[in-house]
Amino acid sequence: HYKDLDLQSVDNSLGKEVTGADNHGAALSRQLIGQAFKSRVSAIDSDTCDAGEDDAFFVADLGEVYRQHLRWKKNLARVKPHYAVKCNPDPQVLRLMAELGMGFDCASMNEIESVLKLGVAPTRIIYAQPCKTKAYVRYAANAGVKQMTFDNLDELYKVKQLSPDAELYLRILTDDSASLCQLSNKFGASMNDTRDLLELAKKLELNVVGVAFHVGSGASDPSAFTKAVRDARFVFDQAEDLGFAMHTLDVGGGFTGDASFEDMSAALSSALDDYFPPHIRIIGEPGRYYVSDAFTIACSIIGRRTVTDATLGTTSYMLYMNDGVYGNFSCIPFDHQNPIPQVLKSGSNVLYNTHRPGYDSPSMTEYSIWGPTCDGIDKIPDTHLFAEVLGMGDWLYFEHMGAYTKCSATPFNGFPSAHDTVYVCSEPGAAALMGL
Ligand code: PLP
Repeated sequence: HYKDLDLQSVDNSLGKEVTGADNHGAALSRQLIGQAFKSRVSAIDSDTCDAGEDDAFFVADLGEVYRQHLRWKKNLARVKPHYAVKCNPDPQVLRLMAELGMGFDCASMNEIESVLKLGVAPTRIIYAQPCKTKAYVRYAANAGVKQMTFDNLDELYKVKQLSPDAELYLRILTDDSASLCQLSNKFGASMNDTRDLLELAKKLELNVVGVAFHVGSGASDPSAFTKAVRDARFVFDQAEDLGFAMHTLDVGGGFTGDASFEDMSAALSSALDDYFPPHIRIIGEPGRYYVSDAFTIACSIIGRRTVTDATLGTTSYMLYMNDGVYGNFSCIPFDHQNPIPQVLKSGSNVLYNTHRPGYDSPSMTEYSIWGPTCDGIDKIPDTHLFAEVLGMGDWLYFEHMGAYTKCSATPFNGFPSAHDTVYVCSEPGAAALMGL
């Protein structure tokens, strides 16, 4: 049987304000995702299907990406979003964003290429990687991508040699201690170094046009934005003193799609208004914010092991799924996530029902959940209690799986690193843009 899906889609009151419906978008999203899961999973018979047909798969709601865009525009009207492609280079998501007129933050040649292929003008791309591969800089210059970041002296010589007309953004260090994934241990010039960098850029007759920062991915402290904007103003003034015509501030990414977004964006907007007059162009590089909640993944259970503790008199089960930390759950080691399993389909194997102690009682049973590879670290964190009897042939689903998941999946052990995505669209506006 199928459990009624209780997909806790974003609590998106914006759905109400923008579409005029009573949270219509989020409710429709739940319904469409549920239907997509049900129709795909009910067509799979793991006893007879071909290899690959019962692999894990995503359902993506493009309407969710669209709603997040409206929410961005409402709260950060001054900041033009340049989606961080690295976060999830899903082709339909990129296409929707291209149609929405967004810009793109690319970190490599392949990312630039996939955005250009959509017909996006190179002026809408920023190559936001302070230490770039030489051949990629050559490629970007030939493709007309001029905006790029730097944070060190060597990079300036590289740019002078390979892309002397580049429009450069000096990336500065931030206090990212309150973020999920810190980046300032690797990138960003300190306030003590910015003057030397700007002086060298001047000497090399390079064109510095802006400042960039990133407060860390999954940021949680609004004051990090306030401080970074203040530091950026300091560097703007330094650059203007040296004769650069500075025109753009890049506030990076770090935004989450949860309820903290409104507080973060309020702090950022007020700092921008305090330090940067309206003629300064402001761009951002959001990744996670746009896609995290748009993707839900379904995984099937391929095996089960019973664990009895004779001393305690308890029984629990180890469930083995067809996806794990080397696959789409790479967000566990790399992105410090804790995906929560929910039951999509249970009771596939009737044998289990008679074997489960206390099956008829309302008590919950403890399950640990493991990935398909041979490695012991391939495990979903924590143990989980379910009222359902779960085992081979059953399916679980995990929400909020759109950011830093499939892009960092590996083919370790020969398991597929690319999985199907079924697209649904809960917003008519997005469907119209996509020609759906
Ligand atoms: N910009 C740069 C330069 C980044 O390195 C990242 C993430 O690593 C992003 C933007 C996207 O960050 P987020 O997903 O936190 O918005």
